Amino acid sequence: MKTRREFIVQCSFGVSAVSLAALSTQSLAQGAMVLETDANAVGLAYKANATKVAKAKYPKYAAGQACNSCALYQGKAADKAGGCPLFAGKQVAGAGWCSAWAKKA
Ligand code: SF4
Repeated sequence: MKTRREFIVQCSFGVSAVSLAALSTQSLAQGAMVLETDANAVGLAYKANATKVAKAKYPKYAAGQACNSCALYQGKAADKAGGCPLFAGKQVAGAGWCSAWAKKA
C-alpha cells in the first residue's frame, strides 16, 4: 500500500512527464520562436511586432511590411508564425520584421 506522500510524488511525476512530452512534441513540430535578443535577430534588427521597428534607424521599413508579406517567409500569410531561412530551426512572427525584408515577386 502506498503512502499518501508516495502517491502525490508519483502523480506529480506523471503530470510532469505528460506535460514535457506535449511541450517537446509541439516544439519539435513548430520550432521555437526567434527572440529579439538572439544574436542574429539583433544583427538583423528583428522585431516580433513590425510596428515596433525604429523607423528612423531603418528607413527601408514601410508600413505594411511584415514577415508574412516577405518573400523569405515560409508560413502562409495568415499564419501567426512561420519559418525563415535566416533563422533556421526557429519561427518568426507573422507580424514580425527584420532588415532583410524582401518584397514577394
Ligand atoms: S527575412 Fe523576411 S521572413 Fe525572415 S525575419 Fe526578415 S522579414 Fe521576417
